[in-house]
Amino acid sequence: MADQNRSRRGLMLVLSSPSGAGKTTIARELLKSDSNLVSSVSATTRPPRPGEIEGVDYYFVTVPHFERMTSANEFLEHARVFDNFYGTPRVHVENQLNMGRDVLFDIDWQGTQQLRENARDDLVSIFILPPSLAELERRLRGRAQDPEDIVRKRMARASDEMSHWPEYDYIVVNHDLANSISEVRTILAAERLKRARQIGLGDFVKSMRGA
Ligand code: 5GP
Repeated sequence: MADQNRSRRGLMLVLSSPSGAGKTTIARELLKSDSNLVSSVSATTRPPRPGEIEGVDYYFVTVPHFERMTSANEFLEHARVFDNFYGTPRVHVENQLNMGRDVLFDIDWQGTQQLRENARDDLVSIFILPPSLAELERRLRGRAQDPEDIVRKRMARASDEMSHWPEYDYIVVNHDLANSISEVRTILAAERLKRARQIGLGDFVKSMRGA
């Protein structure tokens, strides 16, 4: 398995969606069942929610710290989302890709746009749509972790975020969680087999042809 990994450069699997469309659950299930997939951990200036763990869910940093990281070019991409800053620290991601691991990103359309500009060949982007706006609202309220004004702001932004679906490679409508997870797994499996990603293939075939 290790040799197989070395002969392939890792890909960047981006999942975006409006909050509440099921993206976080899908990401968690994929990471649990796929040992070659690791998560990118973003830095954010927003405060932790109950249960969130430093270094696992996010690196929680102050605004001056975030600004220092930005000026030092430590982010692969960064954006302001709602009233906070979010960014993907570059070092971990680049190390994992070079080792042939695939990296999962839970980032918004602004970050995806930046990755597309800087790393197009490595990028596989999926937009998760909720089955309906009513269901999206139900899920956002069911989560009950955020104050009412934040929920309202997110609902208002959901339709904005959803307008970016045509910029993504794949669209998954999350009618049923198990089915959506399986669809994302299928996308990942196919993308891993793309000829351009299998960089050791030339030598492999050459050796079989005795050349
Ligand atoms: P939340 O605060 O709910 O964890 O995330 C809010 C939004 O920020 C989500 O749409 C999430 O995908 C996005 N986000 C999280 N981390 C990053 C990041 O590093 N970069 C960008 N561009 N967006 C992020």
